[in-house]
Amino acid sequence: MIQKIDKKAVQDAVQMAYDRCKNETGGKNADYIPYLADVPSNLFGIAACLPDGDVVAVGDTDYKFGIESVSKVPTAILAMNQYGGQEVLGKIGADATGLPFNSIMAILLENDHPSTPLVNAGAISACSMIKPVGDSDGKWKAIVSFIADLAGSDVAVIDELYKSETATNFNNKSIAWLKNYNRIYDDPDMALDIYTRQCSIGVTARQLATMAATIANSGVNPVTGKAVFKPELTPKIASMMATVGFYEHTGDWLFTTGLPAKTGVGGGIMGVVPGVMGVVAFAPPLDGAGNSVKAQKALAFIAGHLNLNVFGTTRCVMAGKEPVKA
Ligand code: GLU
Repeated sequence: MIQKIDKKAVQDAVQMAYDRCKNETGGKNADYIPYLADVPSNLFGIAACLPDGDVVAVGDTDYKFGIESVSKVPTAILAMNQYGGQEVLGKIGADATGLPFNSIMAILLENDHPSTPLVNAGAISACSMIKPVGDSDGKWKAIVSFIADLAGSDVAVIDELYKSETATNFNNKSIAWLKNYNRIYDDPDMALDIYTRQCSIGVTARQLATMAATIANSGVNPVTGKAVFKPELTPKIASMMATVGFYEHTGDWLFTTGLPAKTGVGGGIMGVVPGVMGVVAFAPPLDGAGNSVKAQKALAFIAGHLNLNVFGTTRCVMAGKEPVKA
């Protein structure tokens, strides 16, 4: 069954989600990265980007927060765009670990079974794969310009966050070196530094919503009209987000909402409804798995209200909206 929704329905759903969730007080800011502990906990914004490039936004959608693990998504796409999905599957994999994002045990349990670019170990591997291999500046330029193309506007590192992460990323250092024996394809310290820098990029909920809409729109940015990546990668990255986007809580999330989404410890959650829209919520306080409490509630409400469940028998489409083509 096809269910047509219009921009007004999206606006209403976003506003309702905002009103229902704005007084939610659960969770607490990440504090293992000192910068994140000091971000105001009451920030809250929701943004959706539609296939014609229209953005619907409520709340703090222009505040620049740390993209954190949501950055694993663009880098995974970039690696697949450079090498092809099959080679990334072989070199890193696409299996959920069922364990926390920074789990060292997950690496030990792999027993050389590949993992996924959407947990820390696989994300550091993805950074090591990005071309030009061996060239830190070249890799960084490739990643940052790819993120800007997806988001439709420039992005930059929040220096204070980058310093804060670099001073405290002992666990990730162990991962980079432990992983090195067979799954890091460049200098491990360089790969880790690129990963740390990409996590420290500042983005707004609007920018992330545009990024999500570009992914939903087969790699064509609906705001700028630029073809950013190969169209066949949308189902590949959406499947990765669906299987591991909430770490050890991924199954519960998918069961509840059916929305492929990726969280970050900065408080952002980016949801992708292939062929339909990108939808994002941001609020810093997190649950025990590192996922924003308020943003989860807001997106779960919107997914239910608009029938965004990708496993549902009702297919949701935007009425009268022609997707932007390159
Ligand atoms: N930079 C963070 C880390 O690697 C990102 C974690 C996350 O957002 O899940 O620990």
